[in-house]
Amino acid sequence: MRTITLRPPVAAARKDRSYWLQSIEAEAATSPLQGSAECDVAIVGGGYAGMWTALRIKEHAPETRITVLEADFCGSGASGRNGGQVHSWFAEIDMLLALVGESDALMLCEATADAIEELRHLQTSGALDMDLRLDGWLWTASSTAQEGAWGAAYNLCRALGKERFRLLQRGDILRRTGSGVSYAGIVEDRAGTVQPAKLALGLRRLALEKGVTIHENSPVLEIAPGPRPHLRTAGGTLCASKVVLAANAWLSAIPELHSYLYVVSSQVVATAPAPELLERIRWTDGASICDAQHHVLYYQRTPGGEVIFGRGTGGIAFGDRIDGRFNRDSGKGADNIREMHRVYPELKDVPVLYDWSGPIDCTAQHLPVFDHLRDHPNIFYAVGFNGTGIAQAPVAGRIMASLVLGYDDVWSRCGLVGINKRTRLPPEPLRYLGARVVRRAIRRKNDLEILNRKPGRLTRFLAGLAP
Ligand SMILES: Cc1cc2nc3c(=O)[nH]c(=O)nc-3n(C[C@H](O)[C@H](O)[C@H](O)COP(=O)(O)OP(=O)(O)OC[C@H]3O[C@@H](n4cnc5c(N)ncnc54)[C@H](O)[C@@H]3O)c2cc1C
Repeated sequence: MRTITLRPPVAAARKDRSYWLQSIEAEAATSPLQGSAECDVAIVGGGYAGMWTALRIKEHAPETRITVLEADFCGSGASGRNGGQVHSWFAEIDMLLALVGESDALMLCEATADAIEELRHLQTSGALDMDLRLDGWLWTASSTAQEGAWGAAYNLCRALGKERFRLLQRGDILRRTGSGVSYAGIVEDRAGTVQPAKLALGLRRLALEKGVTIHENSPVLEIAPGPRPHLRTAGGTLCASKVVLAANAWLSAIPELHSYLYVVSSQVVATAPAPELLERIRWTDGASICDAQHHVLYYQRTPGGEVIFGRGTGGIAFGDRIDGRFNRDSGKGADNIREMHRVYPELKDVPVLYDWSGPIDCTAQHLPVFDHLRDHPNIFYAVGFNGTGIAQAPVAGRIMASLVLGYDDVWSRCGLVGINKRTRLPPEPLRYLGARVVRRAIRRKNDLEILNRKPGRLTRFLAGLAP
């Protein structure tokens, strides 16, 4: 059978890592794979998806011998770089409903709401300190084009008897965020923010405590499939009965998955601490805030008073080759800084100390997909989190555990399992060239709409071609 070749990440230099990782001096805690080893389940990737899969399998079948192979260190990928915004899938209920139907959509949305409660329990019990603050998730508009972006999700939730969101007035938003720029929106109360790298490293510790073996600095270079697949790293070979691919955007190296995945970059900046200034403008709590522009803007303040501003850049690479630009872009976060100063002019003199980027694994339906590789029923994958993973990966872990353990239950039967109903994307070079044209149009549309100006017909048409 043909070998499956992977394309491991380009590790970020320490100075290019996220503020979150640098502030806790995150490092590898386990040794690389050396020589040959065996296990029941091998997991490729030590981010939220890999860790939650390991933990859920251990919940059901504690005797399972699980080994995680992580290219860099656990949390070095998107899980330690993200915006730290915690919200449920109710925000995507319209997309879920279209893909999986009403009953599964509700089940999956409730499961992410339960996952948020599980995170709260981990935090309050002292099992995992992730600086979780459930002060709400605000979905807001700061220009006319953004007004009502939440309409489909808000109205569907109400129609289905779920009061997950509340409407916000201009005064509410000002009181909660200290900025008058956004003037309409909704809030999900049982949502908020975390320190994402603390969460990632805490999951690594929990997995080790449950007896999961982890080898960091162990990029998997290739997998020889078969009844007992062999995973090869530079230092050794791991032989397993089943394999879980939880390597996020880097899975786009597998041609079968590349057809359904596209990788875009998202960029984040963090300021120096400015707690007194934030007190003065009354931005005091741990809510996560999102501005509904096309290149979605997301922000929070940390407990220490750093301001975090993240933004989808739409940046892409030919053949989805994730190079060093996906760790840190040369633009030094200029777009994010401009947006931060638009929303908070008071921050003009506060230095930005960190900027970093990360790859986002996108699917046309904007929802993850779980399955096994077409010709390999013992090689499973979880991919396509589309920039929303903190409350979603615990649910992904349930789905993956059921698939790996061969259970026939609500998780293995749910509508996110199975790639056949997903949309195939165009091949290269059409994909890259098309994406560049569409990206430019989206950027132009976005920039005009922020200023309440209307883009021309061609720009609107091209921007509308985005999946
Ligand atoms: C900039 C940014 C902002 C985001 N903001 C938010 C947010 O505010 N809220 C939210 O909910 N979600 C957010 N997300 C999304 C969220 O971070 C992801 O959905 C989530 O972390 C996905 O977890 P994962 O385990 O699939 O991926 P990752 O954390 O990327 O883990 C995959 C791991 O696989 C490893 N790997 C890759 N190839 C190999 C190989 N060949 N061998 C071994 N290991 C390999 C990588 O090193 C990596 O550690 C954001 C993402 C980014 C990039």
